[in-house]
Amino acid sequence: MVRLLLSIQADLENVTDLVPASDSFDYFFQVKCSSCNEVHPKLVSVNSLEEREVTSGKGSTAHFVWRCGLCKRESSAKFDPSFKPQSYSADVNGQFAPFLTIDCRGLEFVGFDPRGTWRCVGAESGTVFDDVELGEGEWVDYDEKAALPVGISNIESKWTRA
Ligand SMILES: [Zn+2]
Repeated sequence: MVRLLLSIQADLENVTDLVPASDSFDYFFQVKCSSCNEVHPKLVSVNSLEEREVTSGKGSTAHFVWRCGLCKRESSAKFDPSFKPQSYSADVNGQFAPFLTIDCRGLEFVGFDPRGTWRCVGAESGTVFDDVELGEGEWVDYDEKAALPVGISNIESKWTRA
């Protein structure tokens, strides 16, 4: 088993504490088989509130179970029971910061697509923006209370061994 860390980086404009908007967020990852190095052609979604049975695991479960199309081996990935993603704050603006960890058996994640609904707050005003869509790679809005434009752009991600 290998524990992987996903770090993210973004340019925040007048906002802070970027995090998925709900606990049932679907994380879209690119997955690679550790046995034959085949990269699955499609992104897969992993949800920390949904578990499936691992065929080979005598009743054990995981948040992601995958059978490689090439070598047919089954692999899986699992979040910690206390899983929570770490919010991305303005303190680390423009730098990589730890976002989440996940335990992988027989697979590795090699990509992350930030599509889905996120939330963040105005850095000065505390205004909550809870409908932030990052699927296009960029989000812009206006903070009425602070009378400032707000935005998120240049989202990058990387996987490393935790
Ligand atoms: Zn394989």
